[in-house]
Amino acid sequence: MLGRLLKVKVIDHPYAQAILTVLRDRRTSQIEFRKGLVRLGRVLGLEMVKELEVEECEVETPLGVKTRGIRVKDLDQVVIITVLRAAWPLTEGLVKIFFNAKQGVIVAKRVEEKGMRNYEFEVDVAYVKIPTITPESIVILSDVMVATGSTADRALREIITHGRAKKYLLASIIITPIALTRLSKASEELGINLTVYSVAVDPEVNNRGYIVPGLGDAGDRAFGS
Ligand code: URA
Repeated sequence: MLGRLLKVKVIDHPYAQAILTVLRDRRTSQIEFRKGLVRLGRVLGLEMVKELEVEECEVETPLGVKTRGIRVKDLDQVVIITVLRAAWPLTEGLVKIFFNAKQGVIVAKRVEEKGMRNYEFEVDVAYVKIPTITPESIVILSDVMVATGSTADRALREIITHGRAKKYLLASIIITPIALTRLSKASEELGINLTVYSVAVDPEVNNRGYIVPGLGDAGDRAFGS
C-alpha cells in the first residue's frame, strides 16, 4: 500500500515502450543506448508538464487578431537534480522540455561491496551541488534505474536540506515495487509530495541489486564500463 503523498505515473505510450525495448536489448550499442535515454527524458518531461500550473493569456497574431492561449507558469521554477553518472543523458532529454531549468548534481554510489541488506544499500555521496530551492520550485530528480530506492531516498534527503519545494518529481526509466514502497515511506517521513514517472515497473531486484529483467548497468551501457 502506497501512502497518500506518492503518485506513480507509468508511461505506456507506444513510443516510450518501443524505446525501452531497445534499451533492454543487450545488442544495443553504447551510442544508441545513450540516445534512447535522451529520447525518454523528453517523453518524461512532456508528461511532467501536465502536472505544472498553467494560466490563460492573450497574444496578438501577425494578422493583428487577439487570441487566447496558455502559459505554463511553473516552467521557470524547475530545478533538475541529476544523479550522476547514468542519469546524465536522461537529463539532456528533460532539458529539451525544461529549457530554463536550474540544475544540480549528486554524485552518489551504492556501496555494493558491503552487499544489500533487506533490499537496502549503504549509499556513498561523493559530491552535491544544488541550486537554491524555494517554496515555488518544482524539483525533478533524474535517476535512471530505481532498484531499491536507496540512492533516490538519500538524494531526496540531501535535496530538502537546501530548501523546501512545491513539488518533487522523479524521472526514472525502470523502478520496482520495492523502491516504490521505500519512496512512499520517505515521502511520508519527509512530508513531501512526490510523483514518480517511469517507463516500466519491473518485478524484481537480484542479489546484486540489479533490476530484473531490467536493462543491465545503465551507466556502463551509456558511457562504457
Ligand atoms: N542501476 C543500474 O544501472 N541497473 C540496475 O538494474 C540497478 C541499478
